[in-house]
Amino acid sequence: MNLPVIKPLIDTFGRVHNNLRISVTDRCNLRCTYCMPEEVVFMDKHELLSFEEITRFVEIVAPLGIDKIRLTGGEPLMRRNLPQLVSMLCKVPGIKDVGLTTNGILLAPLAQSLFDAGLRRINISLDTLDPARFRQLTRRDGLDKVLDGIHAAKKARFHPVKINAVAIRGITEHEVVPLARFAREFGLEMRFIEYMPIGADHWERDKVYFAHEILEQIEQSVGPLVPASDYDAKAPAQDFEYVDGGGRVGIIASVSRPFCMSCNRVRLTADGKLRNCLFALNEIDLKPLLRGGVSAAEIANLVRGSVWEKWEGHEINTARFVKPQRTMHTIGG
Ligand code: SAM
Ligand code: SF4
Repeated sequence: MNLPVIKPLIDTFGRVHNNLRISVTDRCNLRCTYCMPEEVVFMDKHELLSFEEITRFVEIVAPLGIDKIRLTGGEPLMRRNLPQLVSMLCKVPGIKDVGLTTNGILLAPLAQSLFDAGLRRINISLDTLDPARFRQLTRRDGLDKVLDGIHAAKKARFHPVKINAVAIRGITEHEVVPLARFAREFGLEMRFIEYMPIGADHWERDKVYFAHEILEQIEQSVGPLVPASDYDAKAPAQDFEYVDGGGRVGIIASVSRPFCMSCNRVRLTADGKLRNCLFALNEIDLKPLLRGGVSAAEIANLVRGSVWEKWEGHEINTARFVKPQRTMHTIGG
């Protein structure tokens, strides 16, 4: 019997793509200064792909080798009935893993139903444990709700629960040690993400609080770290473990150690645009195709073509870097 040959989603640099980030909304209940402007005009609801359209897209790309999905936004939990989408995506043959990145504000009442729907990986964004600083960074209140969300995620048996913090010099560098201690105390995995030029505010390289500085602070004030046993130099996150067994810390050094050459991601925006890089300057509008009668084979070919044309990398560290028109909340981090 001849088995069909499944060609992986590959680009001209040999990178194989199995990872899809899906933004389900551009709306958000926070206004983080590094991500979005204070005043925003959100997309009309009918601009957003429906759950059926998102699932159809996943059914088309799963046979191309996409097996890992992360739901994001904007704030994905602002999309009503998200557990229903999780359950639809978990049932697509070939999908092994569905994750979520959330700001945690709406998580507490939803954590258990998300887990029951099949979600297993969860990242909760939290940059500070100080309510005043939380308000300054997010332009909203809500630290208590995020903390409730984190505890609800633990209670619902998500493991690990990862906490994402953006590392900005002069702003969040004072939060590194308290966050690392908090994560150790509650059995959470702390992840620091170097500040990237993708938000609405003016980015400068000097504002990036670098990976090595974060590690130095943690080692000095919290405890010695060693590369984790599953440390993968090519993975986006460099994972470390406390020598005393007190948990893990991950660093995403997008600026000081770009991982473009091992990138395996494509992105679908909430309004149905396919992007082959977070920093892509071009995108393919799939919404009319998913809504019209275009065949799965034609859409699959467009995805293949987009991945094939992927550039070498984002070039944040060169004068050639061009900031995309879309800000982070309309792409999906
Ligand atoms: N609203 C959800 C949240 O905050 O987790 C999901 C979307 S948010 C865009 C996804 C991740 O992107 C968050 O962890 C956020 O901290 C991160 N992020 C946003 N803007 C960033 C920037 N300029 N540099 C680095 N990370 C950023
Ligand atoms: Fe909203 Fe997340 Fe952007 Fe903050 S980082 S404004 S929570 S989308």
